[in-house]
Amino acid sequence: AARVQQLTKTFGAGAGVVRALDAVSIGIRRGEFTAIMGPSGSGKSTLMHIMAGLDAPTSGRAWIGDTDITELSDLELTILRRRRVGFVFQAFNLVPTLDAIGNILLPFDLDGRRPSALERARIDGLVETLGLGGRLNHRPHQLSGGQQQRVAIARALATAPDLVFADEPTGNLDSRSGREVLSLLAAASRDHGQSIAMVTHDPVAASHADRVVFLGDGRIVADKPRQSAEEISAYMLASELGAAAS
Ligand code: ATP
Ligand code: MG
Repeated sequence: AARVQQLTKTFGAGAGVVRALDAVSIGIRRGEFTAIMGPSGSGKSTLMHIMAGLDAPTSGRAWIGDTDITELSDLELTILRRRRVGFVFQAFNLVPTLDAIGNILLPFDLDGRRPSALERARIDGLVETLGLGGRLNHRPHQLSGGQQQRVAIARALATAPDLVFADEPTGNLDSRSGREVLSLLAAASRDHGQSIAMVTHDPVAASHADRVVFLGDGRIVADKPRQSAEEISAYMLASELGAAAS
């Protein structure tokens, strides 16, 4: 589980200041799969970065489990993040000098351990489901955008962390691999109790989630239980939240 309270984030200063988040409060429960939607620039990535402990808020507090992460030292936060958080970056952020399997196993290396036999079997399953079997010794520049995205997803899920943040994880995938990724994320929450927060612009992707949260201009403008793709599209159209999204 994770939550934030009265979270505000500004970038820059003086006349050029941007308020990316404006007093946002939200909690993500254990085993819950949440979709986060909203126009480009509405603060989705900023919210995920702060919830994951990758960036600090300007004001407000953020918890991972029972730990207030705004009170941790950089080292304590890094350790907590390595143990409990997986993150799929919007721009993948793969290590260019490591091959695909090196990237996927990176969370174990950073935590100073090797995967157990059970973990290794789970990683093999992820590689198989994500169709990466023939590409494990390719480096990121030798992979297509969609393959890089799938490596980033495998890396985020490799240690089966409590919390998984996925920033547009299906943005570069064809509809078939997109569906595989959505089933993986849904299974992670449903069968393994992991909390998943996924940013998406796609109503079909969001319809796989238990809950759909809409951001507009740095604020939460709607927070709904599971919606069909049609309901999500209709809401986006009616609220004009979709206007700047595509
Ligand atoms: P998109 O759908 O395009 O990914 P988003 O909802 O993820 O958009 P954010 O990346 O969270 O949007 O950005 C929210 C606002 O904060 C934007 O106006 C953006 O320009 C600004 N912003 C984000 N990161 C920075 C930064 N490092 N420095 C300055 N401004 C930033
Ligand atoms: Mg973003």
